[in-house]
Amino acid sequence: MELKDADETPSFRAFHCIFIAISSGLGPLMTGQLVPPVATATRVKVAKMAVDTQLLPALNRLVAALVDSEASGIKRLAAAARVNDPAVGPLNQEQTPRAATVEYCGVCIRAFIEAAMGPDADRLRAVGLPEAVASSGVLPRLARCMMVVSSVAAELDEALTAAAAAGRPGGSRGASGSRGNGGTVVRVHREGAIKQIRRVAAIILQLWDGHTAAIQEAAGRGSAPAAGGKGAEAATLRWLEGLLSDPCVQHFMLQHVMAQVAAADGGSCYGMPPRLVLLAPEPVLPESDAMRLEISNYDPFHSFMAAAGGGVDMPLLLLDLVYTVVAGWTVHGRPPAAAAAARGGGADGSSGSAHQSLQWPPGAPWQARNVFAMVENGGHSGLLRRPQVPVRGMQGLLRRLVNVCLASLVPGIRRHLRELQAVRGGAASSVSLASLYTPAHTEPTATGKAFPARGSLMCATRAVLLAFSNRCLQAQERQRQRQHLQQQGGVVPGSSPEPEPQGDIRALWIPLVRITHACVDVAIVTRMDLGECGFDKTGPAFGAADADTKPAMYNEAVDALRFIERLMSPCGGLRLPRLPPAHNGLFTLLPEAPNGIWEPLDFGYIPALERLLRALHRTEGSNRELGHRSLGGFGLFASHFRSFEPTWAAAFAYGRPQEVASLMATSATVMRLMMSYVVGVADMTWDPEYTTGAVLAARRRLPGEMAMRRRLIRGPNLLQGMLTWLADSAATADSSPAAAAAAAAGWAAAAAEAPGGAPPAPGGLVPGERWWQRRWRQAAAAATGGASSSTSSSSSAFDWGVPQPALQALALCSFTLKRWVFWMARSGRNLCVMAQKAAATASGSAVSQHTVAICRLPDSPAAQADDDLDHIGTQTRTALGAACCVFRAVPVIVHAHLQCKEFAAEARQRADSSGAEAAAAAWRAAAAAAEAEAESWKHLLLDFSHASCFELVAEAAELMCCPVASRAVGGEHVRWALYALLHLAVAFPEEAARELKKHLVPSPFFSQGPSRPAAAGPVPRVTADAALQAACIQVLGLQDTGAIAAEFFLLGRLISNGRSEPADVESLKAGFPLLAPWCCVGKRPDALWARRVGALLPPPALAGELVGVSADMCANRACVRMVGDSAAAVTLSRCGGRCGGAVSYCCVECQRTHWSAGHKEACGKRAAAPK
Ligand SMILES: [Zn+2]
Ligand SMILES: [Zn+2]
Repeated sequence: MELKDADETPSFRAFHCIFIAISSGLGPLMTGQLVPPVATATRVKVAKMAVDTQLLPALNRLVAALVDSEASGIKRLAAAARVNDPAVGPLNQEQTPRAATVEYCGVCIRAFIEAAMGPDADRLRAVGLPEAVASSGVLPRLARCMMVVSSVAAELDEALTAAAAAGRPGGSRGASGSRGNGGTVVRVHREGAIKQIRRVAAIILQLWDGHTAAIQEAAGRGSAPAAGGKGAEAATLRWLEGLLSDPCVQHFMLQHVMAQVAAADGGSCYGMPPRLVLLAPEPVLPESDAMRLEISNYDPFHSFMAAAGGGVDMPLLLLDLVYTVVAGWTVHGRPPAAAAAARGGGADGSSGSAHQSLQWPPGAPWQARNVFAMVENGGHSGLLRRPQVPVRGMQGLLRRLVNVCLASLVPGIRRHLRELQAVRGGAASSVSLASLYTPAHTEPTATGKAFPARGSLMCATRAVLLAFSNRCLQAQERQRQRQHLQQQGGVVPGSSPEPEPQGDIRALWIPLVRITHACVDVAIVTRMDLGECGFDKTGPAFGAADADTKPAMYNEAVDALRFIERLMSPCGGLRLPRLPPAHNGLFTLLPEAPNGIWEPLDFGYIPALERLLRALHRTEGSNRELGHRSLGGFGLFASHFRSFEPTWAAAFAYGRPQEVASLMATSATVMRLMMSYVVGVADMTWDPEYTTGAVLAARRRLPGEMAMRRRLIRGPNLLQGMLTWLADSAATADSSPAAAAAAAAGWAAAAAEAPGGAPPAPGGLVPGERWWQRRWRQAAAAATGGASSSTSSSSSAFDWGVPQPALQALALCSFTLKRWVFWMARSGRNLCVMAQKAAATASGSAVSQHTVAICRLPDSPAAQADDDLDHIGTQTRTALGAACCVFRAVPVIVHAHLQCKEFAAEARQRADSSGAEAAAAAWRAAAAAAEAEAESWKHLLLDFSHASCFELVAEAAELMCCPVASRAVGGEHVRWALYALLHLAVAFPEEAARELKKHLVPSPFFSQGPSRPAAAGPVPRVTADAALQAACIQVLGLQDTGAIAAEFFLLGRLISNGRSEPADVESLKAGFPLLAPWCCVGKRPDALWARRVGALLPPPALAGELVGVSADMCANRACVRMVGDSAAAVTLSRCGGRCGGAVSYCCVECQRTHWSAGHKEACGKRAAAPK
């Protein structure tokens, strides 16, 4: 049929009427909306008839012909308007019959699609309806035609507007009264385009809803809709994804997103005719609703938009389509079956291959929730595609989208904040506008227009995820090409030794930081706890079986959080760049941050991470802490703090010291929180009252979560990695090139200034100046009279003789060491005690068989190695692993302490020998300062008010001697315990004698258990070294233990005498060479490692000063409060009591707790002492 000028031909008019009549009946018939409803059999018959008669291909051709004709008609009008041709006929206010026919074609097509997804989908599939829809290409045709229509409509608009502007309104020529107002004409054409475009958009939205529903349905049944699946839902998914990923449909969607963004931010349209940005986006909802951040889960915006097919007030651009499109581009299927199997059975997560380590942590919520993931695309059927847009162009568009979305959030945040402040009583509210990041850091869009608030956060988050995944895909593609070229034997152009698997992600740090803050902001103003995410522990949602998939209350922050956590995590998200291999040691750091490292550090990644971590783990005992399936657990924390070198070495050297220190303080607190939860599990298995609850909790937990936590506690973790890095750095300082570098940097020069002109010993191990002693020396020297050097040395400008990156890294290491050892020692002791209880349970002394079964070591080797289970094997491994982490740090701290002591002794000597009074006083002051620092190192190890390292050794030794636990005890456990105990006993013999006699251990030779009836009376008790000796014989055998018998002899003498001989101190300084081969940290075995590292570390108070965060901690030992956004911002207030401010607290509650926990006596005693 020739449709050119068809509107005027009578045959077309007749066809038009009949077609409209048929299609207005067909639509409701197929969708089941006719009243009374048509029988299914009839609908199936109609569908079969449509398939048999090739109705859909016919519709395709009809749409093509109609739009072709319509477009040429409009083009002619535009051309005439441009030359102001009076011959142009009057424009109809009404839609042309052609346009109306296209619209009714859309009605038919939508009805068929809706029916194919509806309740009778199976029977309609049987007659071939879905295939007919797909193969006819009618939906792509419609999408393509909409682009034609909007383009010619824009052309006509431009022509008419130009004509009107030139003062040549067509109406003056008298052709038609209706053209008198140019605006009306423009409006008519816009409305025609709007209606048609909206119809196509509604179809796409409907397809997307069908897609989501199909996936959720499959997820609800627990079956993965696999690509090769033959099931009904697999077929539906393939069909839907095929329709959605058609290039024409994709193009239509891309254009829609572009236009929407351009309309809001007034920026570039990427070559699209500017007039295509027809109407600015306007919130369809009332303003108050547009600013609401919360939306109900069961009120899809989609259905509303899809149902409201027309109307003048509707904007052309459907914002919801933008959200849908971005969601569609980020979708992809479950991880491949192989990856799932690897994470299910892998007990050795730490030593896995590179690919496996990327999948770590295994219990991450983004893997448990199957709907959205990234990196690969293809949807669940492997068909879903993204538009072929250059990555750079796509990235620019997505970044603009993020900006618009975040700008759209600000009014909502302000509104909720006002409500919040009203609830809490204005000024009394702890939340102020100034404490929120997003309102302060977000500019309004250039046009002042914005999207509705709801949906914006999610859209922004998805956009960042999408941009990141595009980068990864591109990098993978390049790598594939490179490999292909190599296989072909060709020369690889510009091959770098280590291709970056993520591509160039530098531009993504800012949007990532911004969405992270936005998520926390939104949670704060909507009074949501990110650790709970709307789950009330006692509410029905918690107990219900489907609590995981159907949260009672949807809130955007919950969904966005999953994506943000993934993006923030180095496993699967953006990774902080590593230091270049030649410059990753302490002595080889470059003076400035290498390329690519400064961006994340400069753009505020570290404070954002800290703020998020604090928000996630603020509540003790939250659902997140319990490892709830929907909320996740400690995945974000674990993925960041399971190592030191790749991530943190760079941040320590080049980050802003205060930010990094603050994050480290927070990380230590989170570690403590995590460890206390693991302790809690042991507690539950021990206490018969908890049995059922514990079993249920274990079932509901995120799989892999407990294993991940236990591995982090055992190490590798941040603390262990940091010591290794320091030890490796100190060891390489011996080798000539690095030593030369260090000398040039002033390190070795400092060592050469040793008193008495002694030649510097290798490794800087002279009893002379450590770099951190410089200020004391200079102050003393100034007093002596030789005050030529820096007279007014403010602390910031002071020359420590150490390059800035190394200085900062060392200060941060010292700071971090203190915080982590503090908590790990205490929690490690608790873990040991709880593991002992579990051992007692496993040996059959529990009331309930349930608990015995949980605690006993299982028979199967796989279950024995499974850290997710709560049996005695994992409990013991975890507890001893935590203890060993502390034991590795003990020698370093002992040496650091001794070196402060050495300086103090030297200073006192100088004071005594000095003639001048001023000089003597200055040296005495220096000695006092050094003594105070030595004391604070010692206090870290031997804080008797909570748990000293002696107690930790004793508890660990007792655990090692439990018969049921002994299978999990390894050689490293006994050796490290012995090594640490030797250091402690030689350095602090008096305390060793006292404490070890206080913490006696049941004699391993008469251990409790089945072999010994309980009625046989009390078990004799021995000191920890004796128990350790027995454990050594058990684990290492008699011969190997005999080789270190001298060490045990030394220990015994120290403990009984309570004092050490000079020779003992000498062997301590030599690093106990008998044990050293096994107790060594770093790649190069060296007995002096601990002394070297200790020499590098600045003492605690100085470290606190250098990093700009107080070294003090809240004196309440149970304090895990994470108030505010950063640890640095928390101001501690000193005790105003009679102790004279010896202790300080983060809050009044902590002071109260500590007062009743013992400070009452301490504060009183000190005041009572005569002075
Ligand atoms: Zn006090
Ligand atoms: Zn506190």
